[in-house]
Amino acid sequence: MFNKILIANRGEIACRVIRTARRLDIKTVAVYSQADENALHVKKADEAVFIGPSASSKSYLVIDNIIAAALKTGAEAIHPGYGFLSENADFAQACADNNLVFIGPPISAIESMGSKSAAKNIMQHAGVPLVPGYHGDEQSLSVLKQAADEMGYPVLLKAVAGGGGKGMRQVWSAEDFESELSIAKSEALSSFANDDMLVEKYLTAPRHVEFQVFCDVHGNALHIFERDCTIQRRHQKVIEEAPAPNFSQELREQMGQAAIRAAQAIDYQGAGTVEFLLDEDGSFYFMEMNTRLQVEHPVTEMISGQDLVEWQLKVANREPLPLKQSDLKINGHAFEARIYAEDPNNDFLPTSGRLIDLEEPALNNSVRVDTGVLEGDEVSPFYDPMISKLIVWGENRPAALAKLKHALNDYKISGITTNISFLKRLAAHQSFAKAELDTGFIEHHQQSLFSKNECNYAHLLPIMALFLMLDRKRNCTASVWSQGNAWRLNQSNTQILNVTVNGNEHQISLRDLSSQYRINLAGKSYDLSAELHDNKLEAVIDGHKQSFTILNSNEGYCLFSDDQEIEFALSRPDFGDSNSNTSLSNFKAPMNGTIVELLVSKGDTVKQDQALIIIEAMKMQHTIKAPSDGEISELFYALGDLVDGGTELLSFEEL
Ligand code: ADP
Repeated sequence: MFNKILIANRGEIACRVIRTARRLDIKTVAVYSQADENALHVKKADEAVFIGPSASSKSYLVIDNIIAAALKTGAEAIHPGYGFLSENADFAQACADNNLVFIGPPISAIESMGSKSAAKNIMQHAGVPLVPGYHGDEQSLSVLKQAADEMGYPVLLKAVAGGGGKGMRQVWSAEDFESELSIAKSEALSSFANDDMLVEKYLTAPRHVEFQVFCDVHGNALHIFERDCTIQRRHQKVIEEAPAPNFSQELREQMGQAAIRAAQAIDYQGAGTVEFLLDEDGSFYFMEMNTRLQVEHPVTEMISGQDLVEWQLKVANREPLPLKQSDLKINGHAFEARIYAEDPNNDFLPTSGRLIDLEEPALNNSVRVDTGVLEGDEVSPFYDPMISKLIVWGENRPAALAKLKHALNDYKISGITTNISFLKRLAAHQSFAKAELDTGFIEHHQQSLFSKNECNYAHLLPIMALFLMLDRKRNCTASVWSQGNAWRLNQSNTQILNVTVNGNEHQISLRDLSSQYRINLAGKSYDLSAELHDNKLEAVIDGHKQSFTILNSNEGYCLFSDDQEIEFALSRPDFGDSNSNTSLSNFKAPMNGTIVELLVSKGDTVKQDQALIIIEAMKMQHTIKAPSDGEISELFYALGDLVDGGTELLSFEEL
């Protein structure tokens, strides 16, 4: 086995690989950019090498810097993780040129699967079923449109070089074809420098089912069952599970064999994933093969009892696969929920900032958290906004789902907006419990999944007031003069607190009756007793005992009750200094990101709704539009600039 490996990645996957390497007594070398100087993966590795500025194009994607780091530290092999250089054939070649083992497939296999259309041609020859569609070289509008017309609408346009859902557009009618094609092409060109397209029949209610395959250099090949990744937003996975629910053994065998045929067709070695669409009638179609470890590999580990990184290391070390197909058995059920720094109520736009407080669920054999961050860390705008992955196991699907809900309730993050509340609503959804799944699940259930029941917080106001009072009390010394509890000689203590929630101010009167408290709020009174230990408040309200977690957040505090997460603060007195001019908020960057298109110049006159600037963060683009006809009086940034969320981008004069 190797003595030392370098991990050409960051975040949770770098930490994940380090964990297995350490168990196998393999030394690890991390690489890090400026933004990651104090990151968890750097702390966990035995050694770490600085590879450049924060932008990944200047660090994690610079092949020469990574190879130099491996040579300098005497690493014998490189694990690429996922994303970054993991599917880059030039990187695999550079490893080979420098006598470093690339922990991944042969270069030829990466190349074969790098183009969606070339991959489809290979699979067609290998007898793997394909989604009906056009994947030829001829790219004229008339040829593409004719293919679409012939297969019938709706169709899906996909960038041949695509990934991450970019350059992908649905077309619902012949009239829309040309305009959708031009949008897909321009997205593909800016993301992949290649605007070739393939046209596929768009399946309206499929499931995404993928197979984990493994092959070694001795010609052995097997699959480690399937994962269902149907719950997606913008064609990207949110919750994954294994095994796939409502899935017969017969179908498993058929699809598993097709997946192995796909891998063997390209002389595969190592870990790979063959992705299929499973249609309502049980037909399945090859979509693509990912030639690396997947984000969602832990659900496979949970049900198979295998460590896939260990398998990767063994295969890279030219050892045979550790087991045969017949040795592998499915045990129970597993879910993975991806915890993202993003705002589901704002079109899932990435968020960033400091993780002020972070509480993870208790970890054990059936609850696992793969993370790359610690409390206090910064989630920077430079990288993918995934914070961590929560993986749970149960004896069957309902047991695993109950565990998922419980663990999500115990996962608490303050300081930055995350998708945890959204995941809780997904996990609690009736149709999800019944496994009524198709890739449009989130869209179909928008109302129930996005309903802002957070707004319903009236019953939590007494808890907030009590917390503020107890928190103030514990921060004061024992002297009656500084007790902070409105102590009055010969009187019970009554305080008036102004608490702000969602921009609304609530006046709450709170009376300290020594063993309990009486709260008056909007004409109602409540009797409570409570104890505050660290960030846990145990309160008995009119005989009902409940416990709450309250963490510090940016502007005050964040209260977590069973199904809600709500920010509140003690109101700041109005000093008359607030800036009431909010009319320009339209020109603020909605998130940290890069200016990818500057569509106007200083002095231009523009029409209402005209696109002015396009900002991109991670995989999403946001267009800043003119709120009315007007003139651009100033542009504060240039094309390619990185801007912080909330930054004013331009000044605009209404005409
Ligand atoms: P990417 O590589 O950009 O992530 P994929 O080809 O893997 O794109 O597809 C991502 C998702 O898009 C799939 O999981 C599925 O939900 C949806 N999708 C892809 N092809 C089709 C299709 N032909 N019909 C319906 N949905 C599709």
